[in-house]
Amino acid sequence: MNGPFEQLPQSPQLAGGPEQLEASASFDADVMAYIRRATQCGIYDIRGMGAKRRLPTFDDLVFLTASASRYPLEGYREQCTSRTVLGARFASKPIELEIPVTIAGMSFGSLSASAKDALGRAASEMGTSTTTGDGGMTPEERQSSKTLVYQCLPSRYGFNPDDLRQADAIEIVIGQGAKPGGGGMLLGQKVSSRVAGMRTLPEGIDQRSACRHPDWTGPDDLAIKIEELREITDWEKPIYVKMGATRVFDDVKLAVKAGADVVVIDGMQGGTAATQQVFIEHTGIPTLAALPQAVAALEEMDMSETVGLVISGGIRTGADVAKALALGADAVSIGQAALIALGCNNHCHHDGSDWVDVTGDYQQLGTAPGYCHHCQTGRCPVGIATQDELLEQRLLPERAAEWVRNYLQVVNMEVTTLARACGKSDVHHLEREDLAALTVEAAAMARVPLAGTSWIPGT
Ligand code: SF4
Repeated sequence: MNGPFEQLPQSPQLAGGPEQLEASASFDADVMAYIRRATQCGIYDIRGMGAKRRLPTFDDLVFLTASASRYPLEGYREQCTSRTVLGARFASKPIELEIPVTIAGMSFGSLSASAKDALGRAASEMGTSTTTGDGGMTPEERQSSKTLVYQCLPSRYGFNPDDLRQADAIEIVIGQGAKPGGGGMLLGQKVSSRVAGMRTLPEGIDQRSACRHPDWTGPDDLAIKIEELREITDWEKPIYVKMGATRVFDDVKLAVKAGADVVVIDGMQGGTAATQQVFIEHTGIPTLAALPQAVAALEEMDMSETVGLVISGGIRTGADVAKALALGADAVSIGQAALIALGCNNHCHHDGSDWVDVTGDYQQLGTAPGYCHHCQTGRCPVGIATQDELLEQRLLPERAAEWVRNYLQVVNMEVTTLARACGKSDVHHLEREDLAALTVEAAAMARVPLAGTSWIPGT
């Protein structure tokens, strides 16, 4: 017999003949499932990855590549550089990258040590940086990463001055796109003895990271913290400030005033290992809307050439990267795309000699390959978001690094291809004038004209 929490019958037949079925737009099947889940559990839903709802994205922009009024560069004979420098404002050793794509901060704890190792290897081979996360720096990660950005998070889990000095840059994390205003979560099943030891917290117990830094209450304290970090590192290392995209215009101005070398803005499509679903889907603004606000703030302060701007949150392809650069970013940062390159949501993993199907493991999580967002469980079928020794062995760092390296290579080739087609010999010469918007929303958010017009809504 069906209980009250079972699925509603698909086709209720009422006496008197077939009924014209019409679902409620407000209380559709998803909303009813949400309410039923809440009535059963009494706790909110926690999951990983980013927003699943449809949002305005870089797909809503197109490039106005060369034609009679512009001439393109020849792909096989004319060079297009993608070299990227970040953090030259105050730091004596700015970060120099071969490509404008960096690997975002993802913690050891949320990811396995093998996954962190693989990301470091791939980033190093491509001449770019990777980033630590909540819980500190692992030796494997430091060793495999030529350029490593060390995060200073509100929790301070695993944070120490020795690792700080080993880093190439420091990123103060004020917030993330998936959960601006909220802290991180690491459920007990992922708190292994090693993770617990690095965080000096008990093993197997759920960990919540703070949502604000313990030693500041506002922008003045941020300035003091930045100066403190500069002193510890002899003013050598660039200081990034990362924020979730909410009131971007004001936040960027405050971070610049506090002394940031680089500002990182993470849009609402940004991912996480675990947080409340209500954060992921209902906080922050899309990456497409956030970037022009950050650029406007830097322009108003006359800091566009001085302070670096990195954008993240749902960046997937070379086209996304090229459009972000054209809108004014100096680089992008990728998280979920890097995980997918590692094998996230694959129906199989490679054991070193052959592919092994793991569809059944997804089914045990109540999902299927292509739909998984279950990083919070620690039961990652492909060995990425887990601390389980056997599952972690499913990810072979050398092989996974090769996949990520190939992916980054393709992305960068796409960026330079688009830049050449726009007549640019440097990907950083892409500009807003190279873009048109396909929708009124994208035109208003990105502040570029609607295609075929000179109209930018709101200006
Ligand atoms: S496959 Fe692994 S990394 Fe990807 S969403 Fe599922 S649990 Fe997370």
